[in-house]
This record gives sequence, C-alpha cells and structure tokens, in this order.
Amino acid sequence: MPTGDIAIVGAGFSGAVVARELARAGYTVTIFEARDHIAGNCHTFRDELTDVLVHAYGPHIFHTADEEVWAYVNQFSTFEPYVNRVKAVVQNKVYSLPINLHTINQFFGTCLSPVEARALIDTKADRTIASPVSFEDQAMRFVGSELYEAFFKGYTQKQWGVAPSELPADLLKRLPLRFNYDDNYFNHPHQGMPTHGYTRLVGNILDHDLITTHLSTSFSRDLVSDFHHTFYTGPLDGYFDYSLGVLGYRTLEFEAHRAEGDFQGNAVINYCDADTPWTRITEHKHFSPWEEREGTIYFKEFSRLFEVGDIPFYPIRLVSEKELLGKYVELAKQQANVSFIGRLGTYRYLDMDVTIREALDAAATFISHDRTETRQPNFFVNPL
Ligand code: FAD
Ligand code: UDP
Repeated sequence: MPTGDIAIVGAGFSGAVVARELARAGYTVTIFEARDHIAGNCHTFRDELTDVLVHAYGPHIFHTADEEVWAYVNQFSTFEPYVNRVKAVVQNKVYSLPINLHTINQFFGTCLSPVEARALIDTKADRTIASPVSFEDQAMRFVGSELYEAFFKGYTQKQWGVAPSELPADLLKRLPLRFNYDDNYFNHPHQGMPTHGYTRLVGNILDHDLITTHLSTSFSRDLVSDFHHTFYTGPLDGYFDYSLGVLGYRTLEFEAHRAEGDFQGNAVINYCDADTPWTRITEHKHFSPWEEREGTIYFKEFSRLFEVGDIPFYPIRLVSEKELLGKYVELAKQQANVSFIGRLGTYRYLDMDVTIREALDAAATFISHDRTETRQPNFFVNPL
C-alpha cells in the first residue's frame, strides 16, 4: 500500500517513467519541472514558420535492444521506422559514418573487399596497445592514426574541450567499425521516431489521475520534508548548490537557420576538422521523413564548457573528477528520503532507453522496499 505522497524533480524520461509506475501502484505524485515544458532534453516542438518538428536540445533517435523498454514506449506513442545515417565532412570531402567499408574505400581511394579492408586496417591499427585507457589509445588500436586524426581527433577535441588522450576509452566504444556497407549508426534491433515527437510521448506517460505536473517550478531541498519520498533527476552537484565544486559538463549552443527546400540532404552531418567551429549540422525535417514540408530549419551545434546557469548536456567524467563525484555521492547517501536517478542525478552519459530501463527498475525497487518499510536506496545504480 502507498504510504505517502511522492515528489519527483524533473519531467524528463526518468521523472516521467518513475511517476507513471508509482501512480500505477497507487501513489499520489507531484512533479516539479523548472522549465516551461515536459520531456527534459528530449523535448520536441513545431517550428512556427516551417511546421517542422524540432528536437529542441539536439537530435534524439530512439534505439534499443531492450524488449521491455521498446514495448513500454510503444504503449505511449506509435513509432515511425527511422534509421540514423550520418555523414562526415573532413577537409571538404563527404564520408560515410560510422566507419564502414565505404568510408575506408573513400578515405584511402581504394576498392577493397571486406577481407582486404580488414587486412588494411590490421596494418594501420596499433595492436600493441593491449588495454586502451584513453579515447586516443582506443582509437589508435581500433583504426590507426590516419582515420583517428581525420574522423575523431578534431571532433572529439571540439565536443569535449579536452585532448582525446584525457578522455576515457569507453566513449569510442559507442561507435561501431564495420567491414561492409552497412551505414546504420546504431547496432540495436529497434530504432525509430515517435510519430508526434517525444514531448507528446512523455505527455502520454504523465497522463494519469494521480500525477500533477508543475511547470516553471524549481524544487528546493527544503521541500523534501513535505513528502514521503523525493526522486531527484536534476544535476547531482546542483542539488547541493555546487557547494563542493562544479562537476564538469559540456553545454551546447544551437544556431538556427531557415531556408526553402532541402539544405543538406540528410538529418545529421558531422564536421570533423578542428578548425570548423561547429561539431555538426542537423536538419530536422529529415528526422520526420513521413512528413512533407516545403521550408526547412537547420542548426549548427557548438559545444562549450558548462557554467552554473547553463543547461548541463553531457557529463564529462574525466578520471580526475572521480574524487569530487565520490564526495557528492557520499553527501547524497546521507540524505534521508531522497533518491538520485537519471543522466544528471547519477552524472552518467545515458541514452534514452537506458534511462527508461533504470527508471522502471528504480520504481520497482522503491515499491518493494516501501512494502517492507526498508530505507530506500539513494542510488539504484552506482554512479562511480
Ligand atoms: P533530462 O532530460 O535532463 O531531464 C531532467 C529534468 O530535470 C529537466 O527537464 C530539468 O529542467 C529538470 N530539473 C533539473 N533540476 C531541477 C530542479 N531543481 N527543479 C525542477 N526541475 C529540475 N539518447 C538517445 O537514446 N538517443 C539519442 O539520439 C540521444 N541524443 C542526444 C543528444 C544530445 C545533444 C543529448 C544532450 C542527449 C542525447 N541523448 C540521446 C540522451 C537523452 O537526452 C537522455 O538519455 C535523457 O534526456 C535523459 O533523461 P532524464 O530524465 O534523465 O534527464
Ligand atoms: N565522435 C567523433 N567523430 C564523429 C562522431 C563521434 O570523434 O564524427 C566521437 C566523439 O568524441 C563523440 C563520441 O565519438 O562524443 C560518441 O559519438 P556519438 O555519436 O555517440 O555522440 P552523441 O550522439 O552522443 O553526441
């Protein structure tokens, strides 16, 4: 039986899924959302001039191998088939991404078969690096110096603001390397776009009699005592007013442009050269290819270091930040009746499907602990 009212801070996927699951179990849930809209960084809206569905905080493509998560989101929206096919501009030439047989043949000016391309990359890749720690090591071991310098070095420096030798190897493991012509950016079996955008999807998750959502309403710590339990999906360091210091995030700036017709012929084009100031250009009508629009809107994307007051987009997670993160985790563990979840609450680089999986698991754990009156965990996963 529910034992009291629940506060949820943030109406992104994390907050919305926990809210829905707790409401389904009979809890009364109040959501506090600082922005004037739901769906967090996945927010979509219609551009007034072109009627194109815009991904307000950068491109979001839903992809997953988690059957339960796929079934879950499909309860709240239909999905249109969508395959993310990204192009890359290097020294004024256009290449296929992620690195595949087409990229290799384009880059080296060859006509190699899969077996020949594999043999070529074997001669380029530095396999003496047995256990790569940094992004740079991983890239050198993965594809060797020429492809690393062309596709990863400049882009990564612009995106993260530090040399790839300071970033963790895991980051590159997000990207496949293929010896065929498959240019699907993702390997997951399910990929698609919610027909009416992510904000409609999240709105449907939140559409429950026991859920009340307050927009443009920031949550402060003194409200914790008014609730049986609080789920916090904002930045972990922000909860403590950055009192121990600021964890490193990257923030993004988007420069909007409108035109007639088709600007670049694809949704996402990455610009890998260090001397091009933007990281990528996204043209949003190509994210909804089932809709026809005459006008177009596209965004040049620039990355820079987060300062308090900016929107935190990407947790950087430098090895040197682990100590500060550990201190915040210890502080958070001392908070009674507060759980920290989501991309910001746990300071991790999470895709939407993982966010939803963790929110479902957190809600289930909460409900079972509440029945046995055990103290709730502050973290349902270890952020360190
Ligand atoms: P958020 O969406 O950040 O929501 C947190 C909410 O909490 C925000 O709305 C914020 O306003 C609110 N909040 C914070 N503090 C307070 C407070 N004190 N009071 C009230 N409200 C507060 N994932 C994919 O699967 N595919 C993609 O293609 C993809 N592309 C991405 C592209 C970019 C540029 C970025 C940055 C992320 C991308 N992601 C993608 C990841 C995806 O955005 C996240 O997985 C998802 O947004 C995490 O949801 P969340 O609810 O944890 O956090
Ligand atoms: N990356 C790169 N060049 C590219 C694309 C990606 O160097 O053209 C690197 C970059 O460091 C990026 C990481 O690979 O942060 C992961 O790429 P992904 O496309 O998953 O980034 P996201 O879409 O999350 O921004």
